[in-house]
Amino acid sequence: MFTVNENYLKLPGSYLFSTIGKKVAAFESANPDKKIIRLGIGDVTQPLAPAIIEALHKAVDEMADPSTFRGYAPDLGYEFLRKAIVENDYKARNCDIEADEIFVSDGAKSDSGNIQELFGPDCRIAVCDPVYPVYVDSNVMAGRTGVYDKATEVWSNVIYMPTTAENNFVPEFPKETPDVIYLCLPNNPTGTTLNKADLQKWVDYANENKAVIIYDAAYEAYISEEDVAHSIYECEGARTCAIEIRSFSKNAGFTGVRLGFTVVPKDLKVDGVSVRDMWARRHGTKFNGAPYIVQRAGEAVYSEAGKAQLKEQVNYYMQNAKIIKEGLKDAGYTVFGGVNAPYIWLKTPDKMTSWDFFDFLLEKANVVGTPGSGFGPSGEGYFRLTAFGTQEASLEALERIKNL
Ligand code: PLP
Repeated sequence: MFTVNENYLKLPGSYLFSTIGKKVAAFESANPDKKIIRLGIGDVTQPLAPAIIEALHKAVDEMADPSTFRGYAPDLGYEFLRKAIVENDYKARNCDIEADEIFVSDGAKSDSGNIQELFGPDCRIAVCDPVYPVYVDSNVMAGRTGVYDKATEVWSNVIYMPTTAENNFVPEFPKETPDVIYLCLPNNPTGTTLNKADLQKWVDYANENKAVIIYDAAYEAYISEEDVAHSIYECEGARTCAIEIRSFSKNAGFTGVRLGFTVVPKDLKVDGVSVRDMWARRHGTKFNGAPYIVQRAGEAVYSEAGKAQLKEQVNYYMQNAKIIKEGLKDAGYTVFGGVNAPYIWLKTPDKMTSWDFFDFLLEKANVVGTPGSGFGPSGEGYFRLTAFGTQEASLEALERIKNL
């Protein structure tokens, strides 16, 4: 008889952004005259940069010609892209990473959700709280998280590392020893980063405890402060304990185009077993490559023109971050983030839960944000606004919030 994976039934409610989507749709159908401003989901709004569009057009034309047509892409991704990644993201920062340690994929969501397939069933994961929900949910689906306590919104077998205003949103080493540590830096949703010296402590801790760090650097392009690490491989010893995940969604607007990559160094071994070879096996079996035209577009991200255009795009979003952050401060809110990440993390007004504030903002200002509790129990009492809207929308949203 067919049975289902019962771990899925343990997942509380639907994915955060589906819940928000449903609430907004209900409000919209009841209030068709209201103009809603969406600063909730972290999706970009600026079109693809000209250098990327040009590369896409060229690659599309190649697909129309029998002599340049391409079918299945190589397992790890095209060498032209992996070389561009290594040169620009790693060698340029003195990180010792080779092209055969890069695995090109269709994005960081897939990789950060799939990577747990390599962990043993009894591995204990540690996550920052709050954080991008995919890390915990994908481990729930795999049956690794124990029992869910509805009241506290906590899984019995997950180690939570609370990051709140009290500890300046910096995770502390947990009391129990984890086997896998997820670090998302710059952090979604709090916008926190670690300076190199503090990140080095995590690398040392992982090596000492034979743990693996899954380092999600999807927002690397938004780092503006000098001493913040762009890659975990800037730290000594990271090759033996860290997997890094990157995305083209936030630095280059590929949310609808889809491209990302994961770095698994050859030195990452568990009892002599190469984790890199396991990921290669998984990739070869379950993934058939990102499209050729998209990989060419990814290559253009690293061209001189591409780099200059994307720097402007990042600046545009960070200008929004400033507008939102300053505007909220003027309106009397306590605000964090928005310096090394395109997210503003604010404290909800007195006695309002994150969802109370979501409803309040939707109904009174017709602005959509994301309730902090959706990112983990310690996100309760906080709220996230994204800088990925247009400048006009960011200005108008703040005007409305100020007038509340
Ligand atoms: N990782 C983090 C921390 C994110 O916030 C997101 C998207 O919001 C992703 C990964 C997903 O990236 P991608 O579009 O490459 O799947």
